[in-house]
Amino acid sequence: MNRDHADVIIIGGGIIGCAIAYNLAKRDIKPLLIDKAPTVGTEASWAGAGILTSHASTHEPYPTLCRASLERYPVLAEELRAETQIDIEFIQSGTLSVFFNQAEAAGLIGLADRRVKRGFSAEVLTPEQAWQLEPALSKSIVGAVLFPEDAQVRNPKMVTALAKGAAKLGAKFRLGNPVTNFVKESGRVIGIVVNGETLYADTFVIAAGCWAGTLMTQLGVPIQIEPVKGQIVLIETMPPLFQHVVDGLDIYIVPRVDGKVLLGATVEFVGYDKTATVDGAKQMIDAGITIASQLADSAFVQTWAGLRPYAKKGPLLGYLPGYDNVVLASGHFKNGILLAPITGQLIAELLTTGQPSLPLEPFQPEVA
Ligand SMILES: Cc1cc2nc3c(=O)[nH]c(=O)nc-3n(C[C@H](O)[C@H](O)[C@H](O)COP(=O)(O)OP(=O)(O)OC[C@H]3O[C@@H](n4cnc5c(N)ncnc54)[C@H](O)[C@@H]3O)c2cc1C
Repeated sequence: MNRDHADVIIIGGGIIGCAIAYNLAKRDIKPLLIDKAPTVGTEASWAGAGILTSHASTHEPYPTLCRASLERYPVLAEELRAETQIDIEFIQSGTLSVFFNQAEAAGLIGLADRRVKRGFSAEVLTPEQAWQLEPALSKSIVGAVLFPEDAQVRNPKMVTALAKGAAKLGAKFRLGNPVTNFVKESGRVIGIVVNGETLYADTFVIAAGCWAGTLMTQLGVPIQIEPVKGQIVLIETMPPLFQHVVDGLDIYIVPRVDGKVLLGATVEFVGYDKTATVDGAKQMIDAGITIASQLADSAFVQTWAGLRPYAKKGPLLGYLPGYDNVVLASGHFKNGILLAPITGQLIAELLTTGQPSLPLEPFQPEVA
């Protein structure tokens, strides 16, 4: 890269943009990453709960993508620790999904069956077996399913580690100003405008989360990516109350190693509003206390909200229609933390060899 011309410019420094930067840098491409915020990972990638769920979906090829990404985590965690001295707190804690009635049981046991048919593990437990694993669980549960392959990661640390790892390998960062426009020549994108300055590159990656749609509109490609608000309540239980991620009653409980516990998350189609509301917190707290009454005694720490990037056909990974040098990587919705390792790898392979190791056709960005 010379002073004004990068090989690749990545727009967006969330977990997806940083994973792409890291994977490109590993392949000797030194990208320039641009974010509107003064540091990387301030949006959904900071707000997320960091659950890495092996049962994210039952419709192929999405589960294959999820599984491939989850499988990369143990090695990636060690690699990042060695290269950046950051522990991303990858823990294969498993998920315990609890049910309170027969209708919930039928849904979860059906899911467990489908998971097992796809080669994952899932174990249906009696209430007694569930209480043995997690003694704090309510005496009103009528059973649970254990998904032992599920894991968790501390996502803010993961974004920092990916960015630091990429920087060590030569990636450059320009933070604190949004990309406001594209510069085109003969129908091709040749540059972007940041703070009134044009920055040039051969290839551009749009990894701008739920803001990607605005950038694509500027390119005349109306692919919709919507923000979907998720609220989280952070509490502290010392000594730790749970070992597993626990879910039920439309919420999840994520125990961190430091005794903090996340209760999440709402799913709200309310535009770009990131207000953490009393009602949102109440939903999480009420359901949490129903699952484990002892949570009522824990210390309240804080609440927050973030905006998941939702695309109907998402995630969307590949060249934008009509452009041979603009790639989109967004629309990961509820699973962007899970899918970051595989997304980074596949987009880097697409840009360096043209041959991603998993087919990207099913995830091709298309105008509806
Ligand atoms: C409450 C909540 C819980 C979640 N829980 C989980 C979970 O447990 N597991 C999981 O896998 N996923 C989870 N997710 C989803 C996950 O967080 C997202 O899918 C993921 O973070 C998306 O990453 P991203 O990099 O695409 O977007 P973002 O993290 O939003 O990053 C986009 C970046 O682009 C930048 N940007 C935007 N426009 C511009 C511009 N014009 N110029 C320059 N920069 C720009 C932004 O500043 C931002 O840094 C959760 C999300 C939320 C909100």
